[in-house]
Amino acid sequence: MAKENKSFVKEITPQSEDFSRWYLDVIQKADWMDYAPVRGCIVFKPDAYEIWERCQQELDREFKRTGHRNAYFPLFIPESFFEKEKEHVEGFNPELPWVTEAGGDILEERLAVRPTSETMFGHMYAQWIQSYRDLPVLLNQWANVVRWEKRTLPFLRTSEFLWQEGHTAHATEDEARAETMQMLEIYANFVESFLAIPVIRGQKTPSEKFAGAVDTYSLESLMKDGKALQTATSHYLGQNFAKGFDIQYLDKDNQRKYVYTTSWGITTRLLGAIVMVHGDDRGLVIPPKVAPTQVVVIPIGPAKTRETVVPAAEQIVASLQSAGVRVNIDAREDVSPGWKFNEYEMRGIPIRIEIGPRDLENGQAVLVRRDTGEKLPVPLTQVDETVNELLATIQADMFQAAKNRMHEHSYVADDLAALVNYIQNERGLVLAGWCGDDACERAVKDACSATSRNIPFDPPAQPKHCVTCGKPAQYAVWFAKAY
Ligand code: AMP
Repeated sequence: MAKENKSFVKEITPQSEDFSRWYLDVIQKADWMDYAPVRGCIVFKPDAYEIWERCQQELDREFKRTGHRNAYFPLFIPESFFEKEKEHVEGFNPELPWVTEAGGDILEERLAVRPTSETMFGHMYAQWIQSYRDLPVLLNQWANVVRWEKRTLPFLRTSEFLWQEGHTAHATEDEARAETMQMLEIYANFVESFLAIPVIRGQKTPSEKFAGAVDTYSLESLMKDGKALQTATSHYLGQNFAKGFDIQYLDKDNQRKYVYTTSWGITTRLLGAIVMVHGDDRGLVIPPKVAPTQVVVIPIGPAKTRETVVPAAEQIVASLQSAGVRVNIDAREDVSPGWKFNEYEMRGIPIRIEIGPRDLENGQAVLVRRDTGEKLPVPLTQVDETVNELLATIQADMFQAAKNRMHEHSYVADDLAALVNYIQNERGLVLAGWCGDDACERAVKDACSATSRNIPFDPPAQPKHCVTCGKPAQYAVWFAKAY
């Protein structure tokens, strides 16, 4: 059995040896994805897709609680739509795939496969919104989008990905800004409490904002290799799309006015974030709230004891199921317990329950935590209660561990040399002052490939000088290498 254990674990490259290789090993071994025959596209296999479904359910409930409804808009967007908002067209043009021919004919107007749907919503909103009574419009759609990315990485950056995109229209700037912030906060709560991933809330610098937005707000998270990942965005679009698409309404004072719009999205990139924030050398570690299987029960012991042990294990399963736990049993006889332990650890199942003849004699089962490896003997009468408590504890501990890691890998730099040193030698997030000049932001990127992640709402320090030019700092900015 020991030999099996060893050779099995060897199949995953250690994180310290090559983090990217580790990531690709894990998502394939855990059967989360496969590469599709089209460049940059992947198949989301059931274990990964189910996690996405759980994210959808959780977020959808929040969207509806805050007054939004779902709709579905078309996949194809006429080329002329993109020209109505100049910055938007420039931002997306390089990434658009075009349909030029269909039904055997060359199309009169090329159709883009949507990279995002501000233009389509804009076009429709212009027709639907006439009066102040029609506002606000609060719609969301769950959809796929395509961006022909140069560099791709499964889940984190794929050519086609799944997401939701909210698009709202409001009578006033204040209301639209409040909506933008509300959605960022909903995302932040979801990512932190459901996925156990700590986030930094903040505003993007102008060079990093969404093409066509007035202001872009983001959540940024730290992966285990010290790189940052943008986990969600919420955009205040001002009247840019309202003017481009002529979305006007007749106000109470009988004046025609342009609406203010917002958009916000979260994508299947989150799956990659779960892997990179929580995973370890043994494989995935999935937060209990989002785990398709929260507990796996494994009967152990010699063949002659199976007659008593397996029914006891089945009883644990039935009882946990009625206590609302997502639980499976693996009673296969042709696979050793050691192999199973490794398998479920690799798949990141939060709790394993072992039960053997000696446990039965003692009226207990052994709970093993995936996140810490800790073993807890528990009386059979208390399994349900303990499992439910332990799932909550694991969820909280995983969040705390990730938060501690983020703090340990956060630095403050006073000048460019210090920033470069932190980025290159420590890896992580570096807070630095910035004067607001694009050139100074670019200088950081040129020096060490770190980009500005966001201007945090709540910075841990207020650097006095711009990290590049030394002039007074207008903002505190998080810089990091990013996915
Ligand atoms: P955007 O519309 O550019 O604000 O992007 C919305 C969200 O999608 C952001 O949170 C991005 O981090 C994420 N995202 C952008 N490109 C991709 C991609 N190619 N694959 C997966 N997620 C993406």
